[in-house]
Amino acid sequence: MARTVVVTGSTSGIGLAIATAFAGKGDNIVLNGFGKPEEIKGITERLEALSKAGAIHHPADMTKPDEIVDLIATAAKTFGGVDVLVNNAGIQHVEKIEDFPIDKWDQIIAINLSSAFHTMRAAIPLMKEKKHGRIINIASAHALVASPFKSAYVAAKHGILGLTKTAALELAETGVTVNAICPGYVLTPLVEKQIPDTAKARGMTEEQVKTEVILKAQPTHEFVKAEEIGALALYLASHEARQVTGTHISIDGGWTAA
Ligand code: NAD
Repeated sequence: MARTVVVTGSTSGIGLAIATAFAGKGDNIVLNGFGKPEEIKGITERLEALSKAGAIHHPADMTKPDEIVDLIATAAKTFGGVDVLVNNAGIQHVEKIEDFPIDKWDQIIAINLSSAFHTMRAAIPLMKEKKHGRIINIASAHALVASPFKSAYVAAKHGILGLTKTAALELAETGVTVNAICPGYVLTPLVEKQIPDTAKARGMTEEQVKTEVILKAQPTHEFVKAEEIGALALYLASHEARQVTGTHISIDGGWTAA
């Protein structure tokens, strides 16, 4: 039977790859995220054709709790519940703390951390009622280790691991699991956009940032592919993963082993 899968921030990058992975399994998909209307329409139609189930897009802004509540309510109203919730929406800003814009700090904490609290707060009662659910939080290697000039991002990602563990304990006897995925670098728009700022902050060329900062962090010296994260999300959502809860799985080319 088709599951209903909500993926925040799924009009691009990792979220889109995760939504595509679930659509490939015949699930109903609730997309979310920004983009040009014609591109979002194209993605929604493509996923619906792939899944042969349903696909809708909800435009909730992850900084707005009311819109997040409506995202979950719309998923439940359209497809009869939420089986899998993937908290993926995220943004980055690279600057030293003393120059870090206050509004950027607030926005990153809202999108990368608080939005997951709001989606979970709305979806958990639905999952409890069905005695089944999967919550997957897309954290980062930066949930485990820090890098300079990414204060808000590192703080939010460390925070989401704490939220993951707390929710897992609260839900341990309900059939709902809560886990985090901690990817290393994936070449998505989020990473591409930070290359010029990192170059500026570190006094390097953009090419040096790719080889000496980004891929240097990963012992395999290769980017993680978004599709590989999709496959990991499918595993965490599976029946076989029912005893996996309150933890994180790294997919970072060995970055955090060092
Ligand atoms: P991306 O920029 O390709 O996609 C981000 C998505 O979030 C887009 O769909 C965008 O529209 C959406 N989004 C942004 N602000 C939003 C808002 N206010 N409300 C709703 N949606 C919003 O980024 P990505 O690299 O695919 O990142 C996805 C997640 O993976 C993020 O949480 C990021 O921190 C995490 N991550 C990325 C990497 C990487 O190297 N790319 C590594 C580790 C973790």
